[in-house]
Amino acid sequence: MPAYYKDINQCNICKDEYTSSFIEVMPGNRIYLCQNCVEAARFNFIWICLNCGTAYLRPKTTVMKRRNGYGIKEAIMLGEMKIIQGIYFCIKCNPEGILEQKQQKTNCLGQNGH
Ligand SMILES: [Zn+2]
Ligand SMILES: [Zn+2]
Repeated sequence: MPAYYKDINQCNICKDEYTSSFIEVMPGNRIYLCQNCVEAARFNFIWICLNCGTAYLRPKTTVMKRRNGYGIKEAIMLGEMKIIQGIYFCIKCNPEGILEQKQQKTNCLGQNGH
């Protein structure tokens, strides 16, 4: 199929590039991502807020240390694209919800290591 027949959409991660490639983070929820962001997904986990559309990148090494095994290894084994995960709300659009989660998971998305 010729490229110009495909949907071209703004990249949901960087909101900078336009791209025709997307993944479904949840059924019916398409996340478009450009080549740059596919590259970024090799080294980072990417969370995207399905509510407000904000994308969050975390270096894999940091995440691996803090969330020992919790679904992350499985995600890697399924392939790079699965490293992008949809979340229903983020700290921008629901700070209280995030705080509740944080109490259970001891600041896993907190400050950077360095
Ligand atoms: Zn992008
Ligand atoms: Zn949000």
